[in-house]
Amino acid sequence: MMMIQPIVTCLQNQHDAGLLLLAALVCTIGVYGALSVQDHTSRAKGQARIRLMMTSLVTAGCTAWATHMIALLAFDPDMPAAFEPIQTVLSLILGMIGIGAGLLVATGRQRRPRRAGGGVLLGAGVVVLHYFGQTAYVVRGRVEWDAGLVAFSVLASLPLFALSLLLAGERNRTFRVAAAPLLLLAIAILHISGMAALRLTYDPRIALPHWSISPQLLAPVVAAICIGLFGVALLSVKLTLDAKARVREDQQRLGELANLAVEGLAVCEEETIVSANEGLARLAGQPRDKLAGQNLSTLLPSTPLADIPEGEELDAALVRPDEQVVPVRVLRRTFQVGAETRAVIAFRDQRERLRVEEKIRTLAYTDSLTGLANREWFNTMLSARVAHFKETGRPFTLLLIDLDGFKSINDSCGHAGGDEVLRAVAERLVAVAGPEYETARLSGDEFAVLITDRADPLDASSVAEQIIRRIEEPILLREQIVHVSASIGILPSEQNHATVEQVLMNADLALYDAKANGRGHGRLFRQDLRHAALARVDTAVELQSAWQDGDLEVYYQPQVRLADGALTGAEALIRWNYPYRGILSPAAFLPVLEAGPLAVPVGDWILRSACRQAAHWRAAGLRDFRIGVNLFAAQLRSPHFPELVREALDQAGLPADGLELEVTENILLRNEGDTLRHLASLRGLGVGIAFDDFGTGYASLTMLKEIAITRLKVDRSFVLDVETSRKDQAIIEAIATMAKGCDLAVTAEGVETAEQARFMEAYAIEAQGYLFGRPMTATMFEEQFCPATQVARQLQRSNREAIQVRQTA
Ligand code: C2E
Ligand code: CA
Ligand code: CA
Repeated sequence: MMMIQPIVTCLQNQHDAGLLLLAALVCTIGVYGALSVQDHTSRAKGQARIRLMMTSLVTAGCTAWATHMIALLAFDPDMPAAFEPIQTVLSLILGMIGIGAGLLVATGRQRRPRRAGGGVLLGAGVVVLHYFGQTAYVVRGRVEWDAGLVAFSVLASLPLFALSLLLAGERNRTFRVAAAPLLLLAIAILHISGMAALRLTYDPRIALPHWSISPQLLAPVVAAICIGLFGVALLSVKLTLDAKARVREDQQRLGELANLAVEGLAVCEEETIVSANEGLARLAGQPRDKLAGQNLSTLLPSTPLADIPEGEELDAALVRPDEQVVPVRVLRRTFQVGAETRAVIAFRDQRERLRVEEKIRTLAYTDSLTGLANREWFNTMLSARVAHFKETGRPFTLLLIDLDGFKSINDSCGHAGGDEVLRAVAERLVAVAGPEYETARLSGDEFAVLITDRADPLDASSVAEQIIRRIEEPILLREQIVHVSASIGILPSEQNHATVEQVLMNADLALYDAKANGRGHGRLFRQDLRHAALARVDTAVELQSAWQDGDLEVYYQPQVRLADGALTGAEALIRWNYPYRGILSPAAFLPVLEAGPLAVPVGDWILRSACRQAAHWRAAGLRDFRIGVNLFAAQLRSPHFPELVREALDQAGLPADGLELEVTENILLRNEGDTLRHLASLRGLGVGIAFDDFGTGYASLTMLKEIAITRLKVDRSFVLDVETSRKDQAIIEAIATMAKGCDLAVTAEGVETAEQARFMEAYAIEAQGYLFGRPMTATMFEEQFCPATQVARQLQRSNREAIQVRQTA
């Protein structure tokens, strides 16, 4: 308050208001001009920069000086006053140096302390100009100073000078705008309080120096400088307008370019979108003009501009006004528009890419033929189930489904037909399983169903049964009706299933069991299946070495004519001379042999041995001797099987009618490869074909008509109780009648008693069984049945008797 009073009095009583206003005006124009030129300086380069800098310095200096001068002219000292010219000029120079140094230090986007320091320097320049200029102001009187006000003028204005230049270099526009008024305020405070500090007392004894210049003379000089200042102000306005026009032009050009781009583009100044292209408008679901002015964070709420790396793509989520989220990739590039720094943000729409990826993913996880899940996806689902089961005990049941006889369908209907059958099966599976089960096609004709949240064996068996019945319904292809069945391995999640592999293996064992037990059924997994599987593995290994070591042997069982008991032939039956356990019957190893890689070589070896043996016995006197050889399915699958048979016959020197190949219904039913054609061509060669174990399987009677066979072998099970069982008698009668009608010979198997033989005589021509002889080694067979051997032995015996007689004699 103490300071304010003299200042207000000084202003009211000792100043010409008009001139004071003029001083303020000149100062305003000069300050704006100087700061504006200064602003352009920071963006200009080379010569232009130096020119602008000099202009800015001179303007600032002149402004301060002219303001000071006009203000002094406005001051009425109440006594004659004049200006001391040298000091006046010196004050101008000193002021310019201080102001210039301050501006130089603070110019551009320097750090804040430096800018503030520049402000202090500039302020010091103005202070020097003012107080030194004051000494050039001479009056006829004594000059005294109010020290408090002088101190106030300096201390109050210097922080404002500092603040002013500090703000002038800020990025934020609002702050920058405040710089000039602050500078004006600082000058005003300095000048006015400086003037108020001046105490003049008229003293006629003091004369004005004769070289001093009267204010009236100085006024035109000041006026000229003011005009210069106006010029600078105009220059700065022009510079600003030019720069603005350039920015606009650049931005417009950029906008045009941007609209050509497919991607969304936004030009940002700081965080604010200055302009956006059509692409972004489409992406953001807003018109372009609405986008301009928005903060970028409204589009990308979770990705601040600072987080978007320069020149590197980043996944982000663009949020539309309707809250819809569009997945985008954003990329930032910073560049210069005129003198401004702008960031261009490119938005790449990711929806299509994600859709395609999703599609690829679904394609990768579905079976293209049936549309069910494929093996990969199924394994993933199963892994999840198994993990769940382990963690929470949530049960599940796995059904492994394998079609029976699908191969023959593929062979007879072609691949297109096979595909259609698979599709039909898939549809039926889904129909039975419903949407709550997970259904997959694992490979060729193998399917799987995953029942979630249930592990009841009875329930699972019933689902399996339903599936089988549904699959067994006739399938209508374009021209034909096909029948297919399925076997199912059932695995409820009760056992300690730790891994997916274990689960699959156990289900597989159950499926194997189902297949081995007649197909067309579901079988539950049991622990003993695993032991059996392990035993099978052992057997397979041992069988391999038995084969290599020659431990396999062919036995022969006689076949006789029932009418007179004459030997007609023999059936070749395999045996394994097992080192410790003795002789093993086929039941112990045949399933393993049949399913393994040895089936073909062993089968071929049996065929050749049997043919050789038969030829040998024929030569030894067994005329028309016929050898029966059982076949493995794998042998008939070989495309050259008939040639192999012919070769075996040729090598052995056995006529074709000396061989009878025995096939079971299972082999015929599977009808894999060229089975039926092979049999027909073998029949064409003259080889006999016997239908083994007749009556036990599911062969349809039409097979008798279609397949080239010569003999039915009535299964042992019908013969066993034939004397007492009316049913068995009826079946045998029917078989015999049918055979007669089809011109087929009949052999009764498993005849053990004379009564059975007598009964069967009416229905079968030939018989085989323990009554006539068990399977035996070739040597034993030869000893028992070969006439040549018998003659030799008789000869030997009589010889021995003769020797004995001679000895006794
Ligand atoms: P299969 O073809 O029906 O052979 C007849 C089976 O009945 C033989 O059993 C034979 O020993 C047995 N058998 C014969 N007469 C009687 C009898 O009066 N009473 C009783 N209880 N059984 C009798 P084996 O040798 O154990 O052979 C079993 C099955 O193994 C054969 O049945 C055949 O399907 C298969 N097999 C045997 N050897 C071979 C072979 O070399 N190749 C092929 N592919 N399969 C063979
Ligand atoms: Ca047989
Ligand atoms: Ca048989």
